Amino acid sequence: MSRKTLPMTDELYRYLLDVSLRESDVQRRLREETAQLPEAGMQLSPEQGQLLGLLVRLMGARRCLEVGTFTGYSTLAVALALPEDGFITACDVSEIWTDIAWRYWQEADVAHKIFLRLAPARDTLDGLLAQDQAGMYDFCFIDADKEGYLDYYERCLRLLRPGGLLAVDNTLWGGRPADPAVNDIDTVAIRDFNRRVRDDARVEMALLPVGDGLTLAWKR
Ligand code: CA
Repeated sequence: MSRKTLPMTDELYRYLLDVSLRESDVQRRLREETAQLPEAGMQLSPEQGQLLGLLVRLMGARRCLEVGTFTGYSTLAVALALPEDGFITACDVSEIWTDIAWRYWQEADVAHKIFLRLAPARDTLDGLLAQDQAGMYDFCFIDADKEGYLDYYERCLRLLRPGGLLAVDNTLWGGRPADPAVNDIDTVAIRDFNRRVRDDARVEMALLPVGDGLTLAWKR
């Protein structure tokens, strides 16, 4: 027995997936195609995707927002969990990655729930705020450049309704933020982000050690 989170050995991780993963065939093939890319490390883990889908269902979310789409695995997990009148606005800057995403979104018959915005996410989020969308969103997911995290967090928090949920990926960042000797730009950004969210009285929060670390922040 342990009073802290179990260390995730390869054997235990395989077991976890074996007894819990409910990935569709389309989701699995998207993950396999993405694994062939040089940027494969940016792929969301499948159990994280399943958790996002569960959270969306749990909240009855209809209006969702994503900062950092990559090849669309997280978008797909959210879209599959949304009701027919739900949608997710997906922000990314790469046509190459999101072209892969579109093929699978179409195959899974959820493309009509997804609005892809190919532009710097700050511009897209500022545009939504300028269109009086503040307080309109139920669920936001941030998984993009780490230096931008605080900017995205502040904007998403404004776009969320009270009682809305923000999920943020990579908040344990390979364990590097825990090592004071590591001070590259991304690690410092994650460290700053984590402290800011911990001390932010506007949210209730938890940092889950799933995948590369997933922070959940619930807007008061
Ligand atoms: Ca990520």
